[in-house]
Amino acid sequence: MGTVELSLQEIGDLARRVFSENGCDAENTDALVRTIVTAERDGSHSHGLFRLPGYIASLRSGKVNGNARPKVAMKTLAIVSVDGDNGYAPLAIERGVPALADAAKKLGVAVMATTHTHHFAALWPETEAIAGQGLIGIACVCYTPLVAPAGGKKSLFGTNPISFAWPRPGRSPVVVDMATASMALGEVQIAARDGRTVPLGTGLDANGALTTDPNEILKGTLLPFGGYKGSAIALMVELLAAGAVGESFSFEAAEADIKDGGPPRGGEFMLAISPELLAGPGWAEHSEEFFRRFDAIEGARLPGSRRQHNRLSLAPRNIDATLLERIHALCN
Ligand code: NDP
Repeated sequence: MGTVELSLQEIGDLARRVFSENGCDAENTDALVRTIVTAERDGSHSHGLFRLPGYIASLRSGKVNGNARPKVAMKTLAIVSVDGDNGYAPLAIERGVPALADAAKKLGVAVMATTHTHHFAALWPETEAIAGQGLIGIACVCYTPLVAPAGGKKSLFGTNPISFAWPRPGRSPVVVDMATASMALGEVQIAARDGRTVPLGTGLDANGALTTDPNEILKGTLLPFGGYKGSAIALMVELLAAGAVGESFSFEAAEADIKDGGPPRGGEFMLAISPELLAGPGWAEHSEEFFRRFDAIEGARLPGSRRQHNRLSLAPRNIDATLLERIHALCN
């Protein structure tokens, strides 16, 4: 059906209208609009407008609280706890990150445990916000079994993304943000929608056989990236985002979920580290030498640089026309 050009302003206006007409108050709407606009701005297509129908499904079903008031508390000097009040994650994260950054700047390291939230977005906005404070940021979440452990044919892990951000004073931070599945679910869904195949190794069909058909993978299971090594990182994410935070493992989140098309309830693990306190003055220049060596290698590029390049463009973004029709139908 093709695409329609929308400016970032128009994308934000549309998202704002849809959220506010579907039970979200101004504060939650603002945080969600920022999440969607920054995803479209940076070309993170699977986490921008594409997610809007799912967000709205869970507001309409009453599973997610559109008027959430996240509560931030210090469990210890180094542990920030954010109870998301059963709302979407962006407002909870925005409320908690300043406390996390303050604690890490004072103590050298701090952890933030977010609970009772629904995360439906990319992780780079939160680690990038931590790096913007001159800190190293690490974040991960898990929700709903979609990925089989290496060697298995049954889903147990979520797509379990992990993000890492490294601050570079005076420059954009280096931000890694990746699912530990061979491909993020949203990308598999978009490939299915667009009638494209996916690389062999992305997932298994319902009979446990390898396939390149995304529709068959959506009936079966995804695989971790990188065989048993990616599987080990997915396991680590599951333990940090659920076991360490005190929220649901993916299997628990799925069992408790009403499957209304939006994200189940879960938590998020975030870690902030001060390189200034850990390595001492000179840490930034020392690391810049590493980046100079990196940049000198032909063919290599830093993670996050594609998104950072995309955000420089003020041009309209191309939005799938069928998706736009679905979104307009969500307006009252
Ligand atoms: P990609 O595989 O597209 O990219 C992963 C990382 O690798 C990015 O930091 C990317 O940077 C970098 N990268 C990609 N290509 C290269 C290259 N050629 N050289 C160097 N670096 C490269 O991401 P995924 O599909 O794994 O994940 C997509 C998103 O889905 C993530 O933002 C993740 O947070 C989100 N997600 C969210 C979930 C949730 O429950 N909320 C669940 C699963 C995923 P760049 O962006 O610059 O290309």
